[in-house]
Amino acid sequence: MQTNFTPDQLKDPATANSEKTLRNCVHCGFCTATCPTYVLLGDELDSPRGRIYMIKDMLEKGKAPSSKVVKHLDRCLSCLSCMTTCPSGVNYMHLIDHARSYVEDHYKRPLLDRMIRQILAFIVPHPKRFRFAMRLAFLGRPFRKLLNRFAGLRPLAAMLDLAPRKIPARASLDTSPNAAAAPKAAKGRVAILQGCAEPVLKPEYQAAAFRLLERAGYEPFYAKGEGCCGALTHHMGKEEQSLNAARQNVKAWTRELQKGDLAAIVVTASGCGTTIKDYGFMLRSDPEFAEDAARVSALTKDITELLEVADLKPRKPQNYTVAYHPACSMQHGQQIKEKPKALLAGAGFNVVVPDEAHLCCGSAGVYNILQSELAQKLGDRKAEKLGSLGADLIATGNVGCAVQIDSRSALPVVHTVELLDWATGGPTPKNLSDLVSRSTS
Ligand code: SF4
Ligand code: SF4
Repeated sequence: MQTNFTPDQLKDPATANSEKTLRNCVHCGFCTATCPTYVLLGDELDSPRGRIYMIKDMLEKGKAPSSKVVKHLDRCLSCLSCMTTCPSGVNYMHLIDHARSYVEDHYKRPLLDRMIRQILAFIVPHPKRFRFAMRLAFLGRPFRKLLNRFAGLRPLAAMLDLAPRKIPARASLDTSPNAAAAPKAAKGRVAILQGCAEPVLKPEYQAAAFRLLERAGYEPFYAKGEGCCGALTHHMGKEEQSLNAARQNVKAWTRELQKGDLAAIVVTASGCGTTIKDYGFMLRSDPEFAEDAARVSALTKDITELLEVADLKPRKPQNYTVAYHPACSMQHGQQIKEKPKALLAGAGFNVVVPDEAHLCCGSAGVYNILQSELAQKLGDRKAEKLGSLGADLIATGNVGCAVQIDSRSALPVVHTVELLDWATGGPTPKNLSDLVSRSTS
C-alpha cells in the first residue's frame, strides 16, 4: 500500500513503524473472510482491510478522526485472526494499538463513553477495586433492564451481566519467592503472573497452576510488585497507563532475574501472555526499560508451552470428552495451537474442536462491556458451536473466554490447567462437581 507521510510525521517512532506496516499490506482482502466483525456485519469498514485504510488516512491527515472512523475501529476485537490469515505478514496488532492510542489522544468521545472507559481503567486492573465493584454489582442488578434500553448505558448493563453472583474467596496460597521449605525444584523457579481479574474471578486457575508446576518439577511463586499486565488499558488506547503497568512488571521480574535462576515467567491467561510477550516492542523507545523489557518478553511462556506431555503422568484414564476453545490470544496472538490439545490428550481426555474455532467468542478484554451487542452475538454463536459437539465440558486457556462462554453455555467451562491438574492428582475442578457426581452415581 502506498503511503504519503511527511518527513516530519515519520520522525515519530510510532508513525514510522505504522508506515512500514501499512506498506506491507497489498489489499488482497484474504483477511476479511476470517474477521469476526466482517463475518457478522458484512461491511468492508468492519474488516481488517477497511480498518487499515481508515488508519492510514487518519494517521496521514494527522487530525482528529471522525466519529464514523472511531465507530469502526472500536468494533475491532483485537482478536488478531487477520494476522494469522494475512499472507504478507502485516502486523495488524501494532497498527491497531497505535490507532487506538491516536484516537485516545485526538478524539473527544461523548461524555458517557469517556466516563465508562475511565471507570473501567480505574477499577479492572486493580484486584481490590475490582473485587469491591463485583461485590456491589447486586445493587445495580435490579436496574439492568432499564440500563439496557439506552444505548449509552448498555456497557453498564453488560458489566452487571458479567459480574458473578458469588465472588470466590481469595486464594490462600503460600506464594512468596523461595518461601517453600521444599527442596530446590529440579527445573528452577518460575514466576507466575498473578495479574488482576483472574485471581478475583477464578482463583482456582492459578491454584491449579501452582500444583501442576510443582508436580512437573518447578518452583512457582508470585514476584513481589507485579500486577496487571496492562492489556486492558492498552486496548482502550490508554498508552501511558498500560506502559506504566508494563514497567512495574518488568521491574518486578528483573529483580527476580538478577537472582540468577529464573526459568520462565508463566502466564495462565493468554490475553495477558500476548501483551507481556510484546513488552519488548511496547517499551522499545524507553532507554531505561527497553533491554529488560525485551528480556522479560523472551522469558514469558503460556503455561502450556512450559509443560510437556511426559511431565504429566496421569493417575487414571479420563473418560470425558473436552470441547477445546482456543482463545484468540492463544492461537492468533501467540500462535500456540496444538500444545494445549496435545497436553489434554496426553492426560487422557478425548479432545474435540468446534467449527469456526478461529473466530473470537466476543470476550476480548472489555469488548464484551463496550461493544455488548456484537459480543453477545459472537458469544452465542461460539457457545452453540461448542455445545453441538456432544462433549461433556469445555476447556480454554483464558479467563475472559471462560466467563464469556460460561454465561451462555449448558456445559461446564474450565481452564485447561484445572483439567491437567485434576488428571495428575489435583482436586476435581469446582465447575465439574455436578458432572462428576452424575457420571459416578
Ligand atoms: S483483529 Fe479481529 S476484529 Fe480486528 S480486524 Fe483483525 S480479525 Fe477483524
Ligand atoms: S490479508 Fe494482509 S495484505 Fe491482504 S488485505 Fe489483509 S492485511 Fe492486507
